[in-house]
Amino acid sequence: DFDREIKVVVLGNGGVGKTSMIRRFCKGVFTDEYKKTIGVDFLEKAQFVDALQEEVRFMLWDTAGQEEFDAITRTYYRGAGAAVIAFSTTDLESFKAVQGWKDKIIAECGDIAMCLVQNKVDLIDQAVVTPEEVEAMARQLGLKLYRTCVKENINVTEVFGYLAELHHKK
Ligand code: GDP
Repeated sequence: DFDREIKVVVLGNGGVGKTSMIRRFCKGVFTDEYKKTIGVDFLEKAQFVDALQEEVRFMLWDTAGQEEFDAITRTYYRGAGAAVIAFSTTDLESFKAVQGWKDKIIAECGDIAMCLVQNKVDLIDQAVVTPEEVEAMARQLGLKLYRTCVKENINVTEVFGYLAELHHKK
C-alpha cells in the first residue's frame, strides 16, 4: 500500500538527539558515540500504526548537522507530511529555539502534522526547564507534547504513530 507513506522531518538544535531518535526508530539501536551525519538522506521504516490499523512507511529525514549553519535546504523540507520539533531536557537554548523551528516548518511546509518532543528525560535531575514551563510551551505552540528517552527507547514509537494519525486526519 503506497498510500501510507509519510516523509517526516526531525528538527531541533544540534545535540538534542535527532540522529539518535531516527536511528532508534528505524533500526532499534542507540549508539552513544556522537555522530554528525548518518551518511544518507533518510532512513526508512515500516511500522504498524494502531490508531490507523495499518502499516505506514516512514521516511525519516535527518538534518545531519546542518542546523548549526542554518543551511537546511529546500530539498530537506520538500514533500514533508509531518515534523518532530525536538529539544533536550538539559539544553535551555534548544528549548528556547522551538518556536523558531515551528515558524520555519510552517514557512517551508505549511500547516503539516507536528509535535513537540522533550528528549533525554533520563537526565531529569539535570533539567534546565520545569515540567510546567514545557507544558506551557506546548500549549502556546498548540502542539502535543511527548517526553522521550531515546537512550532507553521510551515513547519513540508513540511519537511517530501520533504523527501518522494526525497526518491522516489533516
Ligand atoms: P542531534 O545533533 O540532534 O542529531 O543529536 P544526536 O543524536 O547526535 O545526540 C547527541 C548526543 O545526545 C549523543 O551523545 C547521544 O548519544 C545523546 N542522546 C540522545 N538521546 C539521548 C537520551 O535520551 N538520553 C541521553 N542521556 N542521551 C541521549
